[in-house]
Amino acid sequence: MLEHVSDPDSTLRRTFEAQREAAAASSASGPDLAARLDALARIATLLDRSGSRLHSAISDDYGHRAYPETALAELIPIQAAVRFARRRLAGWMRPQRRRVGAAFLPGRAWVMQQPLGCIGIVSPWNYPLFLSMGPLVDALAAGNRVMLKPSELTPRFGALLAELLGERFDPTEVAVINGGVDVARAFCALPFDHLLFTGSTSIGRDVMRAASANLTPVTLELGGKSPVIVCADADIGRTARSLMVGKLFNAGQTCIAPDYVLVPEHRMASLTAALLGQAGRLYPRIAGNPDYSCIISDRHMRRLDDAVADATARGATLLRHPDHAGEVEAAHASGRFVPSLVTSSPLDCSLMQDEIFGPVLPVLPYRSLDEAIAFVNARPRPLALYCYTDDRRIEREILARTISGGGTVNGTLLHCAQPDLPFGGVGASGMGACHGEAGFLRFSHVRGFYKPGRFSGFTTMAPPHGRMTRRLLP
Ligand code: NAD
Repeated sequence: MLEHVSDPDSTLRRTFEAQREAAAASSASGPDLAARLDALARIATLLDRSGSRLHSAISDDYGHRAYPETALAELIPIQAAVRFARRRLAGWMRPQRRRVGAAFLPGRAWVMQQPLGCIGIVSPWNYPLFLSMGPLVDALAAGNRVMLKPSELTPRFGALLAELLGERFDPTEVAVINGGVDVARAFCALPFDHLLFTGSTSIGRDVMRAASANLTPVTLELGGKSPVIVCADADIGRTARSLMVGKLFNAGQTCIAPDYVLVPEHRMASLTAALLGQAGRLYPRIAGNPDYSCIISDRHMRRLDDAVADATARGATLLRHPDHAGEVEAAHASGRFVPSLVTSSPLDCSLMQDEIFGPVLPVLPYRSLDEAIAFVNARPRPLALYCYTDDRRIEREILARTISGGGTVNGTLLHCAQPDLPFGGVGASGMGACHGEAGFLRFSHVRGFYKPGRFSGFTTMAPPHGRMTRRLLP
């Protein structure tokens, strides 16, 4: 198992070649069902036995990460994903009959799924376990070999993951490569059979460029600004609680965190008051609160400070719960950023242009639902979209008139935890979906075959073309 590569190019290449050779020496259809179930069982055991060590490593990397957040958003969903894949794998792997066109009867058509080969996975720091192991589970279920590059911002987690996977997998099956941006670049230049990248949209562009040199297909799980539309009929109390839980989970460092809120103008004051109230109720104090996670690094803390300062200098209003407002300095000193609402934010400031990725929530008024939908549609396609309404007609209208990777109605984040829902972005928020069967198919080649019957009409293709053939022509 590899760690902190000093000569990225040659070490990476050696590992990659070893995986390629091992793949070439085994069946093109990859490991059989029993071997794949065994690989998934090894992951399940790793998670069962080492969940708390993995959490401690992540928490050390963060400065502090609330344990329930690691458990609820990382450990439990992956354990569920492993169980789901183990239950469904035999069905996913089975070749499937397909319809044969009338002119090709008698005959048979079918698809069979084969592993793609060697998969590269590049993961970010915000949910380092879920976003490394989730794609790993999908890729192993599909019978592939995997090289995995965790983020350099979670080095303790990366080292532990390398150790734990190294105890259970040969490097020709699964290899973890730790290192910085130079290693990440060299990693993405390898001629993988598929490369899955989870991270920011700007680095996603570099990754796709590097992959194109090898014609390596990519899955890009990127970020973006996920909007919330609060409708006129929404229950303000319930909406505010649900929104703040989703926004402040992992201190807002969630790719599908609600990024900004659109609310009817006559409900603006009541919603902002309710949001602030909820922030105070969920987190009565910020500095040193064990339920509230730290911001991953000083650079990200400064980025949030700068974004808020820029917006307020240009006329935005900053709102904080009275109990939090006095502890901004103490919160910073403990690595935490005070939950903040921003109203009247200029649309061209970074808060409304870039993904916020922290506990800052702009709230914007709208006059009509048409205006809210137009606002969302005028921006790059988001990873998630949330709407709050008890009116099924309005819900259907919003979903039909907008585009996003996915979303939750009357809630946030929860669609990501459904093992049977494809999860992925669209447009600037990414391409290709994973999780469950979508993940299995993402890392499989779905191969179509046709076999004519002995007396198939197929022979009508053969010249000289007689009357029989001409009767078929348009
Ligand atoms: P990032 O783009 O900075 O880094 C992600 C990974 O890319 C890291 O492993 C890093 O080592 C690697 N990397 C850095 N530079 C590279 C380069 N030039 N070439 C190749 N690889 C390179 O992202 P981050 O800060 O770790 O994560 C936050 C971002 O990830 C946010 O934008 C968030 O929305 C997004 N995200 C998306 C999802 C999703 O499922 N769509 C999930 C989590 C996070």
